[in-house]
Amino acid sequence: MWGVNTGLKEDFPPLTRTILLTPIGAVEEYILGAVTRFVDSYYSRFGFSIERADVLPEEEFLGAYNPLRRQYIGRAFLSVLRDIGKKERARAVLGITRLDLYEEGLNFIFGLAHAGLRTAIVSTFRLRPEFYGEAPDKELYIERTIKESMHELGHVFGLPHCPNKRCVMHFSNSIIDTDIKDALYCPTCLKRLGKNLGEEP
Ligand SMILES: [Zn+2]
Ligand SMILES: [Zn+2]
Repeated sequence: MWGVNTGLKEDFPPLTRTILLTPIGAVEEYILGAVTRFVDSYYSRFGFSIERADVLPEEEFLGAYNPLRRQYIGRAFLSVLRDIGKKERARAVLGITRLDLYEEGLNFIFGLAHAGLRTAIVSTFRLRPEFYGEAPDKELYIERTIKESMHELGHVFGLPHCPNKRCVMHFSNSIIDTDIKDALYCPTCLKRLGKNLGEEP
């Protein structure tokens, strides 16, 4: 009876090659659709597909709200998303929220990820041009959300930040950095990503 008493219950049944997209609150359908299409098409080269999970109500994250900052602490989202991922045996969970997120020591974050928890969260709050007093621009808003989603998923799959300003794994200190970078991994990061995902059990 090989494999019965390995103590690796968590790895059985094995993870599916699924990226679970979890909307939190009323995220715009055109944003969810665009992220789904882009990520699904990109990650299909690694045998992954994206699936849509049920919408999580924003009320579930009331405990993460900091009234002094009027923002939500990002890490609280990761633990909730992890539970969903565990249940579904998903290799990765990507949450998208319109709420404004922060982490200690940072004024705000566009997103956050944890490779060990296999989860990522992206906030669109500061991705819409209107936030910066600019005219609404749906295409730009979509592009920014795709970039931040690809960035956080890169972290879930073990990629660190990249010094190449055009690489999607470059750290965005402000929206200017997000607009400078492409939505894709540079050759160095892509090679590393392939290695990380190729070594999957
Ligand atoms: Zn990052
Ligand atoms: Zn790179």
